[in-house]
Amino acid sequence: MYDALTSRYTFACPRLGETRVTLSAFRTLETLAGTAHPVVYRVRFACPCGDEHEGLVSHDDLDWAPLGLEGGASFVNLMTSRVEPLSRELTELAALNIKAGRWPWSFFCYPEERPRPVAPSSFLLLAPADGSVGLAVRCPACQRLSVNLVSCEHVDVPFWNDREVGVVEHVFADDLRTSVEAFRAELWSSAFDARRLSLE
Ligand SMILES: [Zn+2]
Ligand SMILES: [Zn+2]
Repeated sequence: MYDALTSRYTFACPRLGETRVTLSAFRTLETLAGTAHPVVYRVRFACPCGDEHEGLVSHDDLDWAPLGLEGGASFVNLMTSRVEPLSRELTELAALNIKAGRWPWSFFCYPEERPRPVAPSSFLLLAPADGSVGLAVRCPACQRLSVNLVSCEHVDVPFWNDREVGVVEHVFADDLRTSVEAFRAELWSSAFDARRLSLE
């Protein structure tokens, strides 16, 4: 499902059979009704075939797999020429980073006027905009919505946090997700203000 070496999710594509996309290719995320333990997310993603498709991602695959906190991934150790599990290495690296106060993902919460750590399951909408990604996030702390303009790496690479992100100076209504088109239109017409994202 998630490949930690390439940071890509595998989904079914009606045209290509199978397709692999990064997190920044996701367009919408919502919890699948009736799922709780574990929660499953229904995502719509932009496929390399040119269309958008829907797929399902488990909570673990969304928030933990990119940190290597799930079994399965392996790599060829060039020193020993043996295939070894990647999970332990990534897990140790993730633990070290988090202990040092570096979070895998962060965003700037506009209602609270401060940066916050976050996980991909709190992302609601993503829209590419001129080489960047417009990202709507529901704050895990205050539950309100913010829209940041970030780099693709900020979304795709755990522990890569942009030093500065664009922030839409606007408190979004809770029904933001009623229309992806409205979100995109709003994004394009918005003025962004730069905020520093340092959590330290
Ligand atoms: Zn496709
Ligand atoms: Zn907040």
